[in-house]
Amino acid sequence: MIVAIDGPAGSGKSTTARAVADRLGWLYLDTGAMYRAVGLAFRAQGLPFTDAAARTLLPGLDVRLHPHPDGTRVTLDGHDVTDGIRTAQAADDASQVSKLGPVRQAMVALQRRVADGQDVVVEGRDIGTVVFPGAEVKFFLIADLDTRASRRLAQSGGAQARGSDGGLAAFQTVRSALADRDQRDQSRAIAPLKAAPDAVVLDTTGLTIDQQVEHVLDAVRTASPG
Ligand code: C5P
Repeated sequence: MIVAIDGPAGSGKSTTARAVADRLGWLYLDTGAMYRAVGLAFRAQGLPFTDAAARTLLPGLDVRLHPHPDGTRVTLDGHDVTDGIRTAQAADDASQVSKLGPVRQAMVALQRRVADGQDVVVEGRDIGTVVFPGAEVKFFLIADLDTRASRRLAQSGGAQARGSDGGLAAFQTVRSALADRDQRDQSRAIAPLKAAPDAVVLDTTGLTIDQQVEHVLDAVRTASPG
């Protein structure tokens, strides 16, 4: 069975998808990590974000996700880039390379290969619409921008680093980076971020993580044969 969880940054996808996969004992697939690793490779080689550069880079590129008790480890050409892909720059680069057709083609093929024959919880932007349109369970998580920015800031430890303005400037920087990335992800020509027509749209603004997880688990139970 495929459980697809899409939505914008900070909507609760990763936390929910990881917890659901843990509870079910299924594979968790973080497709954003793949785009982040590709973005890192572009930056490391100083390549422009173009289709031509992607066609040169991709054939030799080895992106792998390794399930790990502390969360997925990510390697790029054998090097562990798990921490390197979590910076603000890497998020932005991921969003730039994810507009490119050759990158999307390669990543979609990789995602389908990894999930083949498995029960898997997959999170991303185009999972229910493009990668697995036949997924048995589809969710599209949303949350208001301020909530998403606060979550992102807390994850990065920024909420602790309050300056004389009480952290307002840091909050506004994160908020505006998220808004820019959403805009880019929603408006790109190929596989834009949007809910599949048959996805359950879940607003996580006022929900606890447990509540989000239960919504998805309920849907899995309903969709399970027998
Ligand atoms: O989910 P995460 O923040 O790690 O994703 C980073 C970026 O990768 C997104 O902003 C988006 O541009 C891209 N992405 C995508 N399709 C996916 C997953 C991520 O385009 N399935």
